[in-house]
Amino acid sequence: MSYAFHYLKSIRKIIERVPFGLITDVDGTISKIAPTPQRASISPLCRQYLLKLSGQLDLVAAISGRPLNQVRKMVGVDSMVYIGNHGLERWREGRIESKDSILDYSGIIKSVIKELTPLISREGISIEDKGITATIHYRLSPEPELAERKILNTLNGSTQTKSLRITSGKMSFNLLPPIEADKGTATMDLIKEYNLKGGIYLGDDYTDIDAFRAIHTACHERDFQGLAIGIIGSETPENLETEADFTLNGVGDVELLLKWMTNNALRSS
Ligand SMILES: [Mg+2]
Repeated sequence: MSYAFHYLKSIRKIIERVPFGLITDVDGTISKIAPTPQRASISPLCRQYLLKLSGQLDLVAAISGRPLNQVRKMVGVDSMVYIGNHGLERWREGRIESKDSILDYSGIIKSVIKELTPLISREGISIEDKGITATIHYRLSPEPELAERKILNTLNGSTQTKSLRITSGKMSFNLLPPIEADKGTATMDLIKEYNLKGGIYLGDDYTDIDAFRAIHTACHERDFQGLAIGIIGSETPENLETEADFTLNGVGDVELLLKWMTNNALRSS
């Protein structure tokens, strides 16, 4: 296993490149996974270091499957860039940016939620309405495997979900507009728009693998060097570790890496 703290020399080389961007996932990366999304909160140390780094680095961004306003409130550092709803919405310098065509999907999402709610309602399953997307959670189900099968069967049997993209997450399924936007496209957009020459991505879940791949594509196609760092926990997806360059163990290690970065990204101070 390529434990990140054994490779600080390589990491230092990447963060010395200018412009440099740090892009991080939220849940499971800078915030411990909680029984429900409402109960999760960001690590105070991560918030403190991200605030400091946003004054030192060219870009510090958080990407999450949560709705944009929720992730912005949760992280609470105004000088960062926020990307919500799996890359579909972005907040930068006090403004929300989203593609117009996406807004049409909030009606479809509402209607799908209405259809699915009675069909999958059983103990421990809930549907989170996130405006232009929705997430079905089954973390609290007493029989998660049964719940997962029941949800999948219901999704496959619904005609309304045919117009949506369905992806899986940790103990959850995401219902998304059929628009090519994910953490990978969002990461590539940031690399291009900020003309990044160096970058680090931190993430712990299936949807972060798209971002890992974007980092690696940019390394091949552009004057860019970047690292994908996988955060390993009890529910780590199988291929996260193989797709990552380095790994860290849980939010505690992320706190330590961010702290190390505040001490080693000294060029702007
Ligand atoms: Mg995550």
